[in-house]
Amino acid sequence: MKILSVNAGSSSLKFTLIELPEEKVVISGTFEKIGIDGSFYTIKYKGEKDKKEAKLETHTDAVKILLDELINYKVIKSYDEIDGVGHRLVHGGDKYTESVLINDDVLETVEKLVPLAPLHNPANLVGVRSFMEVLPKTPMVAVFDTAFHQSMSEEEFLYAIPREWYERYGVRRYGFHGTSHRYIATKMKEILGEDKKIISCHIGNGASLCAIKDGKSIATSMGFTPIAGVIMGTRCGDIDVGLLPYVMSQTKKSFDDVMTDLNKKSGMIGLTGVSSDMRDVEEGYNNKDSKCITAMNMYANKIVDYISMYDAKLEGADYIVFTAGVGENSDVMRDMVISRLAYRGIKLDSEKNSTRGITGVISADDSTVKVCVLPTDEELMIAKDTYDLINK
Ligand code: AMP
Repeated sequence: MKILSVNAGSSSLKFTLIELPEEKVVISGTFEKIGIDGSFYTIKYKGEKDKKEAKLETHTDAVKILLDELINYKVIKSYDEIDGVGHRLVHGGDKYTESVLINDDVLETVEKLVPLAPLHNPANLVGVRSFMEVLPKTPMVAVFDTAFHQSMSEEEFLYAIPREWYERYGVRRYGFHGTSHRYIATKMKEILGEDKKIISCHIGNGASLCAIKDGKSIATSMGFTPIAGVIMGTRCGDIDVGLLPYVMSQTKKSFDDVMTDLNKKSGMIGLTGVSSDMRDVEEGYNNKDSKCITAMNMYANKIVDYISMYDAKLEGADYIVFTAGVGENSDVMRDMVISRLAYRGIKLDSEKNSTRGITGVISADDSTVKVCVLPTDEELMIAKDTYDLINK
């Protein structure tokens, strides 16, 4: 079956066409600056990347070009050959604990959840509706970033705030990156043959950790929104909310502007003033730039805080898994994190850790917790859910 895995943002649309059950990635691409001047798209096919300019006024324009390109590239002969489309949806609230086939009810519910994710859900919905317009008979599936974390206990997801805020307005920890953490849980089970106690560290531009027990999320570092938890490329992670009114009064900035600063100008870019990209910060660190050194140490410390917390919740983790851009590629950051866990007998095999592009176990043989690198694959997870639901 040919399944399209789709991630629509406010001005972008990413797709990967995957053949299932073979799990073979056929073609992928990104449409950018939709509705903005200078729109273009790139297509990756058989190792070659092709960039083209195109007038993309709406997401529907992008979907039509996407499908026509699939015909051009001789991946399909007609639109009917697309058996299903899986859509990444950021917020499923507490309503969706797993992926679902999209119908009018689902669309209505996701629409109702827009206040919980005002930036993401509307853009995701535009993506869904554009595909529905062009492929009206093709099954569509919604895969929620929040769904995997719905297994958290009330003690874990509640904040110590007036209960009414939760009961009336749904203010609680939801957690994100669920599709990635679920991929790690599933893949580790596939590799090991059984469920182990895992701390999944999804560390990319956005970052979150997840404690996984019996294949389920029992705790995660992002919260009501993705701003919470560890330090990220541009997001601050956990901070004291008491600083908000003070910053607003001192800077005369509006609440929205301060929130933009915390989401887009904080984290590594805020601390270093250099870059949100770990490669640049690492370069500064190697060149003994004091701000980069502080930022890298803070970044590692915060990850260690969460690992230690989750190790306790799991009553001793079996595996720590690094994934996403930084987790998969930065041996320096992995080393900074794991060396802080020496007190717990956790140690890396430094040769394995510094091997470029390594996947698999990177801990020393006598480490009390095994440490792995495992590249995440959210697109595959979305495609698999779509395949499974279509064939149910
Ligand atoms: P993601 O959000 O998972 O795509 O991760 C993107 C981030 O991964 C980039 O912003 C970089 O900070 C980081 N990254 C990618 N490659 C490397 C590398 N070789 N070394 C350190 N960080 C990297």
